[in-house]
Amino acid sequence: MKIARYEAEGVVRFGLVDLAGGKVREIAGEPFDRVQATGIVRRLDEVRLLAPVTPGKIVAVGLNYRDHAREMGKAIPEEPLLFLKAPSALNHPGGEIVYPAQSERVDYEAELAVVIGRVAKGVSARDAAAHILGYTCINDVTARDLQMKDVQYTRAKGFDTFAPLGPWIETDIDPSGLAVRCLVNGEVRQDGNTREMGATVHRLVEFISAVMTLYPGDVIATGTPPGVGSLRVGDEVTVEVGGIGALTNRVVAPFPAH
Ligand code: MG
Repeated sequence: MKIARYEAEGVVRFGLVDLAGGKVREIAGEPFDRVQATGIVRRLDEVRLLAPVTPGKIVAVGLNYRDHAREMGKAIPEEPLLFLKAPSALNHPGGEIVYPAQSERVDYEAELAVVIGRVAKGVSARDAAAHILGYTCINDVTARDLQMKDVQYTRAKGFDTFAPLGPWIETDIDPSGLAVRCLVNGEVRQDGNTREMGATVHRLVEFISAVMTLYPGDVIATGTPPGVGSLRVGDEVTVEVGGIGALTNRVVAPFPAH
């Protein structure tokens, strides 16, 4: 299934995307317990897709691909390196990424996102799959100059609009060998594969859920492959994950500086 969240006639709903038919079938309530169609079907081009969940937290993993760690001049960590992205940074498919006035270097980071479906606390890697609803794309947008300057990543990764998520959640996919690409203005900048990840998706659920309880709708950003680079105002940036889809956003001029 492809589970989307969308706005239609001013109301936000969840639905199942039928790409071949160009339709979305509305479901009752949220998709975490059971998925039940209401019978209302809309054309996909008549709804506005939103980030497919509103996460209570976005847990991100730094340096989870060896060749990305190398390009950052670092070794792959012995244990997964976790940080949090502010839920208020959430952005939608087609949403604008606002280039902050405080930064002179804003980077894209294409990543596979895991969406939690069932409460996970102290879950083993073996049992992780049962707690995952599915997978989508995330762009872990980063003010790289501020990341280098600050000890913590909170500011660099936390600006409003810095967490584009979507376009929908694919529930029927094996996360262990998916192509992860980033394109800027149609040019391929990152071309990796989740098989190159240091800690696998299931290991990440184990590692993170041993620290903090993961709730339905929480998102894990699993790290970015090599090839990170900068964005400019006016750029169109696309994160693609094989078997899921594409998430495209445009970079716009900063809010007025304070
Ligand atoms: Mg990242």
